[in-house]
Amino acid sequence: MAEVAPRPQDGLAAAAGLRTLGSVSAEDLSALTKQELIARLGGLSPGRREGGDPAAEEASMRFAAIAESSSDAIVTKTTAGIITSWNRGAVRIFGYTAAEIVGQPMQRLIPADRSAEEPDVLARIGRGEYVQHFDTERIRKDGSLVHVSLAISPIRDHAGRIVGAASVGRDITAQKQAEQELRATVKELHDVRAALDEHSIVAITDAAGRITYVNDKFCAISRYTREELIGQDHRIINSHFHSKEFFRALWATIGRGRVWHGEIRNRAKDGAFYWVETTIFPFVNAEGKPVQYVAIRTDITRRKADEAELQQLATDLAEKNKELETIVYTVSHDLRSPLVNVQGFSKQLSRACESIRTALEAGRGTGTVPELKQPLDVTIPQALRFITAGVNEMESLLAGLLRYSRLGRITLTIVPLEMNALLTEIVAAMKFQLNEAKAEVRVGPLPDCYGDSGQTSQVFANLLDNALKYRDPARPLRVTVTGRIEDGQAVYAVADNGIGIAPEHQPKVFDIFHRLNPDHTIGEGLGLTIAQRVLERQKGRIWIESREGEGSVFYVALPAVLKEGNSHESG
Ligand code: ADP
Repeated sequence: MAEVAPRPQDGLAAAAGLRTLGSVSAEDLSALTKQELIARLGGLSPGRREGGDPAAEEASMRFAAIAESSSDAIVTKTTAGIITSWNRGAVRIFGYTAAEIVGQPMQRLIPADRSAEEPDVLARIGRGEYVQHFDTERIRKDGSLVHVSLAISPIRDHAGRIVGAASVGRDITAQKQAEQELRATVKELHDVRAALDEHSIVAITDAAGRITYVNDKFCAISRYTREELIGQDHRIINSHFHSKEFFRALWATIGRGRVWHGEIRNRAKDGAFYWVETTIFPFVNAEGKPVQYVAIRTDITRRKADEAELQQLATDLAEKNKELETIVYTVSHDLRSPLVNVQGFSKQLSRACESIRTALEAGRGTGTVPELKQPLDVTIPQALRFITAGVNEMESLLAGLLRYSRLGRITLTIVPLEMNALLTEIVAAMKFQLNEAKAEVRVGPLPDCYGDSGQTSQVFANLLDNALKYRDPARPLRVTVTGRIEDGQAVYAVADNGIGIAPEHQPKVFDIFHRLNPDHTIGEGLGLTIAQRVLERQKGRIWIESREGEGSVFYVALPAVLKEGNSHESG
């Protein structure tokens, strides 16, 4: 904005005084002769007279030198706005040489939308007024716009009449640009803060931890008013859930200028607890010392409650499982004794029948009882055979149950397992059966995993055993074992070209005592159930892909041993 300054006594002094002019170097002075300087900046000279006094001429010359060397544009014009002098600064800022522009109207430099400025300036000058800090735009010779800050003062002749104007202009394009950038940055910061306030619970504290700012969300969750919070420290919402060490570690982190992340349980004014996921970001000074802390929080109370509930459910489930296993163990264990009795007495009965038959045969002729023949030769032995078969089946079921229920009691020793070595051992142990079946087993490079050596061996031995048992007699058995790493898990695939499993049976193969073909004498329907349980206990899992008549793939996943440059990553 243009300002009107009080009228000084001397126009020239005022023109010089409006701006701090650049210092005059020796080169600047020596570059031009005294006459040239005065001639070029004649319009500025108040005391140019024919045969004038030497002191005034000296002063004129000095000022002309200063004006010429200034980096600001120093331009004089008539009261009609015709340019009368043009310094080097003006050449630099506007692009015109003095020869090109002196004698031209000032209006040439003024953009069309600002054309009213010049008559206004001239009118003020005509009234002897000063125009200062007039920030505007002018057109350069190349047509581009330049932001300038102008100071314009009247030039008077000896009689005090206003004969023209001296204008000092400074190129403020860079400053304007910086201002614009600053405004844009401030707006962006404002927008970011608005976005943050919209999403998060925000508080700012000073270096000592006293709250200097809280947003609405902070007030809403803590149930305190802004006035109650400002000036306090965060102890106001401390729930005394976390240890002193917890907060000491927090302060140690942020005090060193590092960001702290964590979950904190706080207490609202009404005593309700709430959980917040918190990030504390220290703002540090040039020395790296925190000057304030910005805490950004998200309400995770619901999630924490869900987690606690889930944890409780998992604990309950684990307990129930243990209970159930104990029951199964006890029952299967205790049922074995009466079963052994049944077995023993059946044998005794069988022997007793044999003795009776022998005795009867020995007494033949003396007193044979024909009615005893049928029960002794057929009915009783047949009944005893059924009893024995039933007892054997029950025993095998009980043995299976016992085996299954013991799984939970086995202490696992989880170690890194070299799976290629483990598979080599299993294949070697099964060499005889594999050779007999003319089976071909190929084992690819396998990633290592964490697991219990014995239990994991059993799982893979069981899978190979199943591949043998459920092979297709129409073709030689081929089994391939491959492995890859996926999301931190080592995933192994045991693929066979056996009889396969129909889709409807696939989910059931892991059920206890489930056999797809119960008439099949081999198998007790327990191997995969045990494999699943064993793997679960080792944080692994097992699943199946199979096509009936083509073959099956059993996948086993266990936590991978991750080494640098593990070559099975994408395998
Ligand atoms: P089993 O002792 O009966 O082999 P498992 O639990 O190991 O018990 O397997 C359950 C059922 O899954 C088997 O009875 C069989 O029908 C089916 N099965 C398991 N492995 C295979 C395989 N590789 N190919 C086809 N069927 C299979």
